[in-house]
Amino acid sequence: MPSHIQPFDQRLEGKTEWDSPMFRLAQEQFLRAARIMDLDENIRDRLLFPQRSLTVSFPCRRDEYSEVETVFGYRVQHVLTMGPTKGGIRYHEDVNLGEVSALAMWMTWKCALMQLPFGGAKGGVRIDPKQLSRPELQRLTRRFTMEIISMIGPDRDIPAPDMGTDAQTMAWIMDTYSQQVGYAVPEIVTGKPVVLGGSHGREEATGRGLVYLVCEAASHLGMDLGKSTAVVQGFGNVGHNTVRFLTEHGVKIVAVSDVSTGLYNPMGLEFTSLRDHVAEHGVLKGYGGAEEVSNTELLEIPCDILAPCALQNQITSRNAANIKCRLLAEGANGPTSLEADQILQDQGVFVLPDILGNAGGVTVSYFEWVQDTQNFSWSLEEINDRLHKIMGAAFRRTLLRSQRDQLDMRTAALIEGIGRVAEAKLLRGLFP
Ligand code: GLU
Repeated sequence: MPSHIQPFDQRLEGKTEWDSPMFRLAQEQFLRAARIMDLDENIRDRLLFPQRSLTVSFPCRRDEYSEVETVFGYRVQHVLTMGPTKGGIRYHEDVNLGEVSALAMWMTWKCALMQLPFGGAKGGVRIDPKQLSRPELQRLTRRFTMEIISMIGPDRDIPAPDMGTDAQTMAWIMDTYSQQVGYAVPEIVTGKPVVLGGSHGREEATGRGLVYLVCEAASHLGMDLGKSTAVVQGFGNVGHNTVRFLTEHGVKIVAVSDVSTGLYNPMGLEFTSLRDHVAEHGVLKGYGGAEEVSNTELLEIPCDILAPCALQNQITSRNAANIKCRLLAEGANGPTSLEADQILQDQGVFVLPDILGNAGGVTVSYFEWVQDTQNFSWSLEEINDRLHKIMGAAFRRTLLRSQRDQLDMRTAALIEGIGRVAEAKLLRGLFP
């Protein structure tokens, strides 16, 4: 190695702009897979950092006209080799460049694993969306869109919802972008309302995809879903749809949680009454007929299926040994630490890793983008049928590799994704 190039390992020691605990987890997962698959060193180094990252600070006027807050926002594109980049925009008070970069890297592996023609991206704004009124959120979204407008585009980088954002956020982004170019550009974002060119089935796609995989895993493990129990952490878009579809398959939901509380009832919780309670009160707290449990207690409840569908870094070396599930279905991004992975593996837990588990969302986003670019609309049945096939095929590819090479499911999924990106990089060659 030429002397002016810093040794590879040193670059990991908190010295880069992207450094954060989450980015380190993404890098360490990647490096572990790269070692096992004997990835070309030059390609490994290229994939270890995002290709483009933009940090912005901008003003957000509060409803009280004289109050202007400065907020920070990010958009990161990890790999531009595979086609346009794709990934959500997150509104959360802890968002930072490292977190967004980790999420962008995971989007790359996720898209490649699902064989979608995208590289990974992610964006975020460091605010607590619950503290903002609707007009404030609209102003913030429009201004953030303007700040990143040179980076995004329907053939360039296509945002979508993530934690703290939804179809309405996407509608404002689509409108702001369209105003700039002078005509409607629905294909600039996915996850928008159906009337604006959104896709049927996109809203619930992540939860639906996760439950398709749970069915595949259950038949592989010889589990009878009708006799199984589940604990779901999170009752946002992913969590609540996961509860809904698991219930449809006869799974008994023994515990759920959201930011306000955890609820436990060994006799089972009913999806429709949980949903109605949240529709009326905004949160799960106050729901009768269940014991309140903490987040720590929730994760350790004995069950067949544990589905973390909320934040990252939930299952770590601290609690992994106490996890008592047979199947871990990751709806969230990055819920499990590297050390916890090893412990779970030793305990014989079968893992549906995040880049596979929550890939239903970006898969239907891909369908949405294809429909928009062709000015064509598919029915819900067609969407679900295509989603089912793609999720099933990705599950079988991952399982096959894990069995053939004696790997855990996360490493197998990562190697599937990384291998595809590495092959494309080698074929495209270097410029100049
Ligand atoms: N934010 C979602 C994810 O993490 C969806 C991204 C998309 O649809 O582009 O996969």
